[in-house]
Amino acid sequence: MPGKRRPWRKELKKQQRKRKRRSAAIARDQLLEEEEAKKLQDPAYQQYLQQQSLLEEHKQREIERIHDAEEEAWLRHDLLAHRQFRLQQQQRAAAEAAANAIRAQQEKELLAKLAEEQRRRDEREKCEAAAAAEFEKMLQCMETFLNSEGEPPPALRRVVETRPGQSLCALYERTNCCRFGPTCIKNHRRPLLANIIVVRNFFMHPLLEDENEHEEYAHADGNLELSEQDLCEAYNEFFEDVLPEFEAFGYIQNFRTLRNTLRYLRGHVFVEYVEERSALKAFIKLQGRYYAGKQLNVEFANIPTWRNAICGT
Ligand SMILES: [Zn+2]
Repeated sequence: MPGKRRPWRKELKKQQRKRKRRSAAIARDQLLEEEEAKKLQDPAYQQYLQQQSLLEEHKQREIERIHDAEEEAWLRHDLLAHRQFRLQQQQRAAAEAAANAIRAQQEKELLAKLAEEQRRRDEREKCEAAAAAEFEKMLQCMETFLNSEGEPPPALRRVVETRPGQSLCALYERTNCCRFGPTCIKNHRRPLLANIIVVRNFFMHPLLEDENEHEEYAHADGNLELSEQDLCEAYNEFFEDVLPEFEAFGYIQNFRTLRNTLRYLRGHVFVEYVEERSALKAFIKLQGRYYAGKQLNVEFANIPTWRNAICGT
């Protein structure tokens, strides 16, 4: 093969080509340099170069300006974000502080409420204990009086007043009853001992149950007659039943029952004894006892005259 036989020739040719290219390049560069040097002599070219330089400088300045502006914008944004973050942090802290203050206030109020409730409970217990002790003392005093001769002790002559210093409740003075009960703004006076006792809401009957119901009865003539008769029979039965119970304590001067539909007057039974000791015995023995499923509450009463006190017995 000819290639194999003369490889040095090929290499030589290659070297020759390379040399040629290099010298051509050198010649070209020289030419360009010469042309450049020639051009540099030209004032127009010089002006052109100067313009190019100014333009380049301007372009560089513009790039720097944009870069500075961008950096400034970024810094401003960063500063703004930082300030925003601080503001949010402050707001969060303020909200948390406000919530804590509310919680603390609520806790304080709850503690105060609990303390107040405890104080009221203590006071109520103290009052109840005092009342119980007072009642016990009064019962002892009553027992002593019952087992002795002569006048009752001054302790039993006391009059209990609901609103001392206030004007007297005229209705209560007359009847020992008042529609406002213990909430009446006027003064109710009640004796600790008297020869009259009262058992409130003792005699019960459907006809006395409700005012409206009573009116319904009133409109139905047949029913009214029947009920009136029924009421009379029921009352007679009640009277025969309870009278001996009361007579067991002593002679009775008056036995009166309120036939009234008003709740604060309904079925009250007044028993007037000849002697205070009899009334006292009845008071002690019947207090808290049950009659027809109803627990009795016995009180002493002071009725000046029966005629003013009771209408429709
Ligand atoms: Zn009253």
